[in-house]
Amino acid sequence: MTKLVPPSERTCERCGRHDVWDDETDSWQIVVDGEQKEAGNPFCLHEWDINGNYSPLAE
Ligand SMILES: [Zn+2]
Repeated sequence: MTKLVPPSERTCERCGRHDVWDDETDSWQIVVDGEQKEAGNPFCLHEWDINGNYSPLAE
């Protein structure tokens, strides 16, 4: 059976921001690596690479 799995993780190809999906808050949470948030560049127009094959925009 094929099941559509929503993305649970995304990484920006431009600035390196790294988010994971939080089911409890229904929102993206910035990954914290050690004591540093992988927030990337706040001015970046993020280019998300979501698990390599998820594209929210049809081209
Ligand atoms: Zn970015």
